[in-house]
Amino acid sequence: MAKEWFRLTAHEIRDAVLGGAVSAEEVTRSFLSRIEQVDSKVCAYVDVWRDAAISRAREIDARIRKEGFRGALAGVPISIKDVLCTKQGYTTCCSKILRGYRSPFDATVVERLWEAGAIFLGKTNMDEFAMGSSTENSAVQLTRNPWNLDYVPGGSSGGSAASVAADEAACSLGSDTGGSIRQPAACCGCVGLKPTYGRVSRYGLVAFASSLDQIGPFTKDVEDCALMLGTIAGRDPRDSTSVDLPVPDYCQALNKDIKGLRVGMPREYFTEALGGEVREKIEEAIRSLEKLGAEVVEVRLPHTEYAIAVYYIICTAEASANLARFDGVRYGYRSPRATDMRQMYHLSRSEGFGPEVRRRIILGTYVLSSGYYDAYYLKAQKVRSLIRQDFVKAFEMCDVIVTPTSPTPAFRIGEKTDDPLQMYLSDIYTISVNLAAIPGLSMPCGFTKGGLPVGLQLLGKHFDEMTLLRVADAYEKNRGFDIGHPPIN
Ligand code: GLN
Repeated sequence: MAKEWFRLTAHEIRDAVLGGAVSAEEVTRSFLSRIEQVDSKVCAYVDVWRDAAISRAREIDARIRKEGFRGALAGVPISIKDVLCTKQGYTTCCSKILRGYRSPFDATVVERLWEAGAIFLGKTNMDEFAMGSSTENSAVQLTRNPWNLDYVPGGSSGGSAASVAADEAACSLGSDTGGSIRQPAACCGCVGLKPTYGRVSRYGLVAFASSLDQIGPFTKDVEDCALMLGTIAGRDPRDSTSVDLPVPDYCQALNKDIKGLRVGMPREYFTEALGGEVREKIEEAIRSLEKLGAEVVEVRLPHTEYAIAVYYIICTAEASANLARFDGVRYGYRSPRATDMRQMYHLSRSEGFGPEVRRRIILGTYVLSSGYYDAYYLKAQKVRSLIRQDFVKAFEMCDVIVTPTSPTPAFRIGEKTDDPLQMYLSDIYTISVNLAAIPGLSMPCGFTKGGLPVGLQLLGKHFDEMTLLRVADAYEKNRGFDIGHPPIN
């Protein structure tokens, strides 16, 4: 039987390819046949670049042979969320309004992975314009949770998370505006990181809420997360919010101890709202950190109760401005029914955008309108500062903060689609992190009795991804269970 290369992590694949144990082509074919086998059930991909992936793999093999190429991701098959611009294939944000759109350029993160020797397998499904927590808002298809096909994979980067969990990609790239990397990572049992705002260039990321958006990796383990972050991080003159700070070697965070490290538990996060099974697993994880020598302290994040309201004001306001460019003229869909210009704008936008995106544009336009601006948008900006201050103060008492990623494990497909507010409330533990611009990582900390993964979230100080990865790696190596592989059948 052929070796199941698709089961391996990125660093294992890279070492095997560079060590001559396997060719990039064989690895890539192994992933492509895995996709053929399981993606009709999981539906993680909206586009698979079969031929391009094989010829790219051959190119990598030739470069290794002829030039001694030693890229950090040489031969590693990766999937990309459809919100990132790629010259290859389409970039649609899983919206009807961008159907058939081809980007003339690659996002900076895509370029950086390419230079490191990655093989791109295709684009993954997402909630339309990254608005959602279940991937059910995609205009293309439903993605299913590989651990139980009746459940959602989380969102908005559900396709990316599912592709990694189902071994249909070694790693993936997603975007996180209010939890869209961490929450699907938690639902699907992989590692997901939202870096500090400014750590990674957003050039080529289709904007949702520009003051909150960040790009980050989905991986099978913490070492791969360090590897991916090191590859995509750093200043980019094409994104003026990307910060000119040196990129440390994140792999230095691995295999370190955490003795004496102070772990903060925010009192406001451990209330009745937190489901019993999730609480149990998080408390178990905290006990493991204690056993490894960490000191647990209680911290306060007193403005937590305002986070959801603040987030849904700021993100809708920014979205209403960012999405104004989709007008039926410059990109994608134009309604065939329009007879004059006004109608052309009106019909193209109302037919091209799905219901959740329309809801956000309307809300965002409202909170920015004259007469309401001060009461909503300006007020929200002020409370955002208080939320950020909460974290700065909490980090005087501790080095990392530990929380659940989500109050519940993945829910059933269809369970929350009729009630947008319920869907918004499930973002409670992830959105403050974007408002405060700090880094957050989610990783598996066990399974529910029903066999669904539970996510542990680690939060760090601005630009201190190093400590996050150090704690995550120490925990991963001592958590006492093996994540295994979902039984997809
Ligand atoms: N679920 C949140 C929302 O719907 C977060 C989305 C995201 O991070 N892109 O806005």
